[in-house]
Formats: sequence, C-alpha cells, structure tokens
Amino acid sequence: MKPAEIAAFRDRLLALRAELIAAGDVPFESLRDDAVSKVDEDAAPLTEMNQVIASRRNRERVASLNRISDALHRISDDPESFGLCEGCDEPIPEGRLLLLPHVRLCAGCQAEEENEVTAGRSRRHLTDYV
Ligand SMILES: [Zn+2]
Repeated sequence: MKPAEIAAFRDRLLALRAELIAAGDVPFESLRDDAVSKVDEDAAPLTEMNQVIASRRNRERVASLNRISDALHRISDDPESFGLCEGCDEPIPEGRLLLLPHVRLCAGCQAEEENEVTAGRSRRHLTDYV
C-alpha cells in the first residue's frame, strides 16, 4: 500500500475514534440518581434494565475504540503490513478496508476464524486478543 493510502486510512481511523469519543458514555450517574430520588420499587427493574443496556453499549463502544487504536498502533509500528491479512498475508481488498478500516483479516480468514469459534475450537486464537 502506498504511504498516501496508509495516511488516508490513518485519518479515517482517527476520525472514527473522534466520533466514538464525542458520542460519550451513556451517563450512569443520572440513572442512579433517578433510582434514588424515586424510591419507587416498580421503577427499579426498569432502571436495572437501562443500566444493562447502557453498559452493553459502553462495552461495544470500548471494544470499537480498542480495535481502532490497535489499528493505529499497527500503522505506526509497521506501516508496510497495514492492509495485509494477518491470517494469510494477502492484501485485504480495499473495499473491505474502507468499510472496516480496523479489520485484521481478509473475508476468507475471518469466516474461517468465526467457524472455529462456533465449533468451539477457538482456544488457540484467544491469545490473539490478549
Ligand atoms: Zn486471509
């Protein structure tokens, strides 16, 4: 990949990261204050559910942020390998990278990995995420 193309993907990742950060956390504090001030037993399950939803959203957001900063690290550590599949070392198609600039695998390797996860043989791959 040409340095200019890598720079373009880097900008894209930085923009995505800025967007996620700007979106902000779902405010836990206000949910908690609400529950305390109401002292309504019926409202408690709903508040709990909202907190579960909020924490799941936050987790997904954090996971996306982590994937994006991993990709940014890969670009700065080893720009030449950016855009190459970590599974088979083949270039990841540009269309896929444009859609998912933080992606590490080509579609073929991704499908294989997901199949292994489904089949419960994912153990050796788990270290990839540590
Ligand atoms: Zn591959």
